[in-house]
Amino acid sequence: MANKFLDTPIEYLKGIGPERGKLLREELAITRFEDLLSFYPYRYIDRSKFYKVREISTDMAYVQLRGFISNIQLHGTRRTTRMTAVFSDDTGRLELVWFRGFKWLKNAFKPDVEYIIFGKPTRYGSKINIAHPEVETANKSKLSQTSTMKPMYSSSEKLKNKGLDSRGINKLVKTLIEDPRLKIEDELPENIRNRFKLINKHEAIINIHFPSNHNLLRQAQARLKFEELFFIQLNLLRLKKLRIEKARGVVFDHVGSYFNRYYNELLNFELTDAQKRVVKEIRQDFKSGKQMNRLLQGDVGSGKTIVALMSMLIAVDNGYQACLMAPTGILSQQHFLNISKSLSKIGVNVGLLTGSTKTSERKQILKELASGNLKLLLGTHALIEEDVKFDNLGFVVIDEQHRFGVAQRAKLWYKNHISPHVLVMTATPIPRTLAMTVYGDLDVSVIDELPPGRKPVKTIHQYDTNRLKVFGFIRDQIKQGRQIYVVYPLIEESEKLDLKDLKDGYESIVRAFPLPEYAVSIVHGKMKPADKNYEMDRFAKRETQIMVSTTVIEVGVDIPNASVMIIENAERFGLSQLHQLRGRVGRGADQSYCILMTGHKLTNDAKQRIKTMVETNDGFKIAETDLKLRGPGDIEGTKQSGILEMRIADIIKDEKILKAARNMAIELIDDDPLLEKPGNYKLKKKYEELYLKNKTWSRIS
Ligand code: ADP
Ligand code: MG
Repeated sequence: MANKFLDTPIEYLKGIGPERGKLLREELAITRFEDLLSFYPYRYIDRSKFYKVREISTDMAYVQLRGFISNIQLHGTRRTTRMTAVFSDDTGRLELVWFRGFKWLKNAFKPDVEYIIFGKPTRYGSKINIAHPEVETANKSKLSQTSTMKPMYSSSEKLKNKGLDSRGINKLVKTLIEDPRLKIEDELPENIRNRFKLINKHEAIINIHFPSNHNLLRQAQARLKFEELFFIQLNLLRLKKLRIEKARGVVFDHVGSYFNRYYNELLNFELTDAQKRVVKEIRQDFKSGKQMNRLLQGDVGSGKTIVALMSMLIAVDNGYQACLMAPTGILSQQHFLNISKSLSKIGVNVGLLTGSTKTSERKQILKELASGNLKLLLGTHALIEEDVKFDNLGFVVIDEQHRFGVAQRAKLWYKNHISPHVLVMTATPIPRTLAMTVYGDLDVSVIDELPPGRKPVKTIHQYDTNRLKVFGFIRDQIKQGRQIYVVYPLIEESEKLDLKDLKDGYESIVRAFPLPEYAVSIVHGKMKPADKNYEMDRFAKRETQIMVSTTVIEVGVDIPNASVMIIENAERFGLSQLHQLRGRVGRGADQSYCILMTGHKLTNDAKQRIKTMVETNDGFKIAETDLKLRGPGDIEGTKQSGILEMRIADIIKDEKILKAARNMAIELIDDDPLLEKPGNYKLKKKYEELYLKNKTWSRIS
């Protein structure tokens, strides 16, 4: 709760001053006293535990040892670059190393004094060493007297150079907490605190920085996590309520001949029950008079496109325009080919607008769009450009929404005077807790069944050394009429090297699969869009049997006859990407295969990813594992929302607290939607402080 003292600029705290103050602002976004208080340690180290040198291995985090320091040595000829010392106890010795502070270090240690050292063991050649350990004399160790839990704060190189390493930061917090003027008010009402047995804010803050024991630390964490999650949920729920109450939507009150003709004359398969259910849900929203803001989740190949298309036809039936935005040119092109062909039979005009649309063509499209002649527009980011103006846009679909930023999506909202209905689609299954948080203000539909007759893709792990065997398998499959993808990673930092890998790979494949018997396509991001389309087209028409590419084909591409996906350097891909890539096969009736090629040396995480892929085709299981391996901050599409930049809570580990906080927020908003009751006064102020300053993200779509 903001009060005057806590609002004081950070440089006025004793021991900081202008220079360090500036650094704290820049490096850690700590601008006021209050920010320092809520700069929580990221972990704690149990200082009651001492290790022996013999027990130390390099996979350990921070360790504490007791022993003697000897043999201080400088290294480097003209200028000292490094200083080492030997640390020993009764079980062995290890090396300590420093890269600065030499002058002081030279005379810092006495041979007959016992020290306590603290640091992270790392491997250096064949030896283990600890760089820049914290050192203190064993009998004087103050820290271990006051608290056995040592807090660790994140810092930066620049801050460390100014004495603000973890310990330095902890000292500042101590100064602040010991200041008699400090008063920490509690923004959570007492009834909520009592109900969830939460300790008060003051106690929580003290114990998060200076825990006196495990139990109090746990309680402090629980309290602060609850608070953090509670306010996030409060905000999401409030936004949703606002949207439902305020956001008027265009009304599509009937289903007309476009929809019906498509359904009866053009659809050449039966919709799955899940697809039918989702179409129904969307129809309900269309009729409701409120703006729809719906997330459609469905695993790769579950048939989301058709649901989107039929919903767009309802918009057209009601005299409105609709658009479908996809993240890549290839995908838009493919949507266009599939959709325009069938719709021309029922007289619906479809346009395609991408970055590579020719100027004259673009002009024509914009003209027809503004006149209302063009009913459906498909395309990429090009759709959100300023000069793309619709006559009456009623419905927006965003495919593979995780590829777009929040701001990009929001732009489509404003292309009509009444916000159009919005359907965002994703194949990245979002674990429940994450969905609750990131998409807390959307309604969610799920396609949880694949079209009938699909055989699960068989996934196989092969080492690079087995390449000949894999080539043999490819030949065999091609003989049976199948087509093959071979995908190489392309990661920005090493783009040049990757591109070389891709081209080398392409050449070796062309050598192994020569003309005229075989034809090989290649597609990568650096090619001109027209060349890309040409190659994709040849592959789609079966003029080539092998498609060598980067991950540009990752999302959405749908060529049912391609039934083998070979992923090179599979260890370099993330799980959700591997799953997306695998989703390119298994779309036809034939048995499909995904072969993950790797070298022999794999990190534990990479092994885990490969194992998961081999074991399961279930997108939700894969997403859960992905979340565990990478942490939520890295899940695509969540970064931009900023919502996961939490100070202390972790939406995977703290699922229980999240649910409790969400339920409490629901109850509170039902009871006191505007937070007007006197008991909620402090809570309201805190909420306003957190969210109302920053209105920009009130419209996540
Ligand atoms: P995704 O959900 O990954 O976007 P698509 O919409 O590309 O999946 O659909 C994958 C393939 O399944 C397409 O070839 C599509 O025509 C086909 N498909 C969709 N629904 C059905 C269905 N109910 N029965 C049979 N095939 C279907
Ligand atoms: Mg798709």
